[in-house]
Amino acid sequence: MTKEDPLRPYRSKRDFSHTPEPKGGKPRPARKHPRFVIHKHQARNLHYDLRLEVDGVLKSWAVPKGPSTDPRVKRLAVVTEDHALEYIDFEGAIPEGDYGAGATIVWDAGTYKNMSEKDGLVVAMEDAIDRGHVSVWLDGNKLKGGFALKRFGTGKQDQWLLIKMKDEHADPDNDPVASRPESVLSGKTVEELTEQAKLGQTNRKVNKRPKR
Ligand code: MN
Repeated sequence: MTKEDPLRPYRSKRDFSHTPEPKGGKPRPARKHPRFVIHKHQARNLHYDLRLEVDGVLKSWAVPKGPSTDPRVKRLAVVTEDHALEYIDFEGAIPEGDYGAGATIVWDAGTYKNMSEKDGLVVAMEDAIDRGHVSVWLDGNKLKGGFALKRFGTGKQDQWLLIKMKDEHADPDNDPVASRPESVLSGKTVEELTEQAKLGQTNRKVNKRPKR
């Protein structure tokens, strides 16, 4: 028996002849320093997508309010489909009519360490996610330090909480979502990318005019 392709739901939602998002190849084996990304996605509702590289795919949660660096603040994180690993560098505008239409920027990116443990023993990321109890140390551009993810509700889309752990990077006075809205890849804001996409669409239409 082969394991079911974890990217099937991801691919079934998208028309890759239309969306600029990556189709992705075969999931690759885990790396020593797995990567993470947080996309800021201006879809119908603005949200942040936290994605962790686990076993060659991106485990994903939609965080409506984005992460907080205040350990007292719990942020809702709703599970979304595993994304292709190549999505980690994706920044662009998903066309109108496509799944998740709207601009998305790489709000933060870096590597992470799995800190999940039970009874003093390390728990592999896949198992930690299954158990609904994940601890990671983020080494990002904007976010650093420990973050806990705890599942509190199951259903069509499991519901988790994203909470900053108490460490030297916890900072109740800092609000990176508000103070650092720009992409760590391009420096652009999601608003700028949205504006650009509108202009780009106009250009595409112009280019499609038949030649005389
Ligand atoms: Mn999204």
